[in-house]
Amino acid sequence: MVKEMIASDLKNETISVINPQDGSLIKKIKSASAADAEMAIKEAEEGFLISSRLPVHQRISILQKAAQYILDNSEEYAKILALESSKTIKEARKEVARCIETIKISAEEARRITGETLSFDQMEGGENRVGYFQRFPMGIVLAITPFNDPLNLVAHKVGPAIAAGNAIIVKPATVTPLSALKLAEAFDHAGLPKKILTVLPGKASEIGDVLVENSKIRMISFTGGLEAGKEIMRKAGLKKFSMELGSNSPVIILKDANVDTTVESVVSGAFWAAGQNCIGVQRVFIEEDVYDRYKSKLIERTCLYNLGDKLNEKTDMGPLITENEAIRVEKIVNELVNQGSTVLCGGHREGAFYEPTILENVPIDSDLAKEEIFGPVLLLFKVKDLQEAIEYSNDVDYGLQAGIFTDNVNHAFVAIKDLNVGGIMVNDSSDYRIDAMPFGGVKGSGIGREGIKFAIEEMTEPKVICFNLQ
Ligand code: NAP
Repeated sequence: MVKEMIASDLKNETISVINPQDGSLIKKIKSASAADAEMAIKEAEEGFLISSRLPVHQRISILQKAAQYILDNSEEYAKILALESSKTIKEARKEVARCIETIKISAEEARRITGETLSFDQMEGGENRVGYFQRFPMGIVLAITPFNDPLNLVAHKVGPAIAAGNAIIVKPATVTPLSALKLAEAFDHAGLPKKILTVLPGKASEIGDVLVENSKIRMISFTGGLEAGKEIMRKAGLKKFSMELGSNSPVIILKDANVDTTVESVVSGAFWAAGQNCIGVQRVFIEEDVYDRYKSKLIERTCLYNLGDKLNEKTDMGPLITENEAIRVEKIVNELVNQGSTVLCGGHREGAFYEPTILENVPIDSDLAKEEIFGPVLLLFKVKDLQEAIEYSNDVDYGLQAGIFTDNVNHAFVAIKDLNVGGIMVNDSSDYRIDAMPFGGVKGSGIGREGIKFAIEEMTEPKVICFNLQ
């Protein structure tokens, strides 16, 4: 229950940042207006004049200092993150460590932005020409970010943008703006010239269109839901897009898998950040011979989960981001039960908390099961073989990551070839990522790839240079 929401929030003048576990006010901050958004774009234009001329050694040094600042203050970063989001303190610490890694890698990749020489004499008439292409920054990048990883997903846009020499405006999720503001503090401390980076907390309904439609913005790097992504693309006009969207990731368990690693990995992949995780495990396809064995092991492990105070070191799972989100998940589970599903464990809500929940007998064609639940709900399906598992895995509009557990390398390679996703984890759940890998999806899961080197490529334009020798 949100207690301190007052008139200024309703008028879009302020944002009350609320701790979802008890509805208490963490902080009240100014909410950007349309005029603030226009001003941010004007300032970013000036920022780009500075960033595009910033020598690479200075970009590297700023990124290194920012990473060091976060490291030196990491517990403070973790606490802010845990308070405003769904994450427990243990989960928040991991996100802070990954954010440091993301910014350090950005510093390394800044020195590796290269071009290539081109053989102009491959075409008749080009004999006297020599040339190359070089990558140049794009201009102003608009980053729009979600609530579920409120620090590292911002770093995944800010780090590469600065490494590449762009100016960047970040519009963080309205419910979790504090981690993004704290990230900007690190860059301030590191000496990033003003106006290169602006973090602009404000509601999408108030500043979304002003930012998205402005032609001075050259690229939109969006992470969030499919519907918002589609709306942004409809409105944005001629711009470059990186779209990191949702999913309902599948995991396939074959009879030759290692039971212990499989169970641990699937349960953690399903309930990390209370299931609010774009690569979280939603659908598990288990070969029929071993279905009952895995079912009881998964239930047994899930029952050990501690729900509770996010700042308690013993807590495994916190609340959803708002009570409304928990109610939304509760409704999905109830509807799946009406459709014939059986609750194997969990299934209860208290305020914003929803228990880690496992369902079976879910109708394979249920639209709800094919959508992204984005909550702590795991659906178990019995399949006759790998082919059937792959068919069901692919029969959705998403394709971000998938996992397969097997000791048979041939089975692994069949899955690698036939699963239509952006990443396949063999003997891991879908929920595995390092920050340097190309990350992104196919179908409704998005366009483009993040992972610093790949984001830098998306955030730069190749420019061709050709000398006509006299
Ligand atoms: P969301 O509702 O789509 O919001 C994401 C961001 O977009 C927020 O900052 C939101 O602002 C803003 N926004 C929404 N509509 C907009 C519009 N028309 N114009 C401009 N900005 C707009 O997503 P969420 O609930 O925060 O996050 C959950 C979703 O993100 C899930 O679908 C999840 O799978 C996906 N996700 C994907 C990845 C990935 O890397 N592929 C990673 C994490 C999360 P307000 O907060 O002001 O509404």
